[in-house]
Amino acid sequence: MRSNILYVVIPCYNEEEVLPETARRLKEKMECLMAGKMISRNSKIIFVNDGSKDHTWDLIQEMHREDALYGGINLTRNRGHQNALLAGLMTVKEYADIMISMDSDLQDDIGAMDEMLKKYQEGIDIVYGVRSSRKTDTVFKKATAECFYEIMKFLGADTVFNHADYRLMSKRAVEGLAEFTEVNLFLRGVIPLVGYPSDFVYYERGERFAGKSKYPLGKMVSFAVEGITSLSIRPIRLITVLGFLIFLMSIVMLIYSFVRHFMGATIVGWTTLMISIWAIGGLILLSLGVVGEYIGKIYLETKRRPRFLVEQFLHGTDGEEEKNAGRR
Ligand code: UDP
Ligand code: MG
Repeated sequence: MRSNILYVVIPCYNEEEVLPETARRLKEKMECLMAGKMISRNSKIIFVNDGSKDHTWDLIQEMHREDALYGGINLTRNRGHQNALLAGLMTVKEYADIMISMDSDLQDDIGAMDEMLKKYQEGIDIVYGVRSSRKTDTVFKKATAECFYEIMKFLGADTVFNHADYRLMSKRAVEGLAEFTEVNLFLRGVIPLVGYPSDFVYYERGERFAGKSKYPLGKMVSFAVEGITSLSIRPIRLITVLGFLIFLMSIVMLIYSFVRHFMGATIVGWTTLMISIWAIGGLILLSLGVVGEYIGKIYLETKRRPRFLVEQFLHGTDGEEEKNAGRR
């Protein structure tokens, strides 16, 4: 039997509406697992407060005071879901043998935890939770999300299809992840690069039971751009291909222009000219933008700014507090 102290890591951003219910359901689940000897009695639920503007942190502190099963990590400011998750994993990895990450809205079925833990005991280090269907998502969310995976794949960012950040990782897998020191960390793309034996668990994705999605379309698009530019250089390569094709076109146009010239019909062609100018201008700007994205990335990487700062880490049986617990 592999050692089995489980830490559930949950990023929370303005989640006061869902947090009490999430905590209650998870506690039930944890007690069940403890009773079944699937996990150690020292297991914990850790909420990562990602700079919420509501009472999320107060709630976490209160829960921690009442029950040592709950712990909390307070980030100094909002750093986004990926960084919050990373902060959680990096902070708890020295205490835990197993870490399961999930969203605070319990859209991911906590019933799948049993199967994840079973796979862990069979020697698997990374178990991805994969949605078997998206029945409860709105048509718009479903379409945009599916588009997202297709575009990502085409542009060279190969991620696990329909897997959000609901996954189990063993201690050594998280330690492996810690070796990826890039500042622009795109977890879903990087974790498959960590390697180690991995497997999948399928579950139905439920509805967010309260509150609003913290991932509107704008955030999703920027998330996709982040993912693509931090995982692959294919967009730059596509620009090169595009440039080459346009060059071929220009040779055709050159020949065509000469033919027209010698036929003495040089005035016509204003339309073609206008269209070409706009099209090529647009393409140049677009290409510059893509190259710029990468240069921006390089700029941020060279600065080596911390990905997150932990203001407070609530953890431990006697409510001991570790202030300024970490910076990474
Ligand atoms: N989240 C976060 N920081 C942010 C935005 C979201 O920690 O800046 C958390 C949020 O609290 C939730 C998870 O990320 O636990 C997923 O967010 P949400 O459920 O709103 O996304 P959706 O399920 O709609 O894609
Ligand atoms: Mg959600």
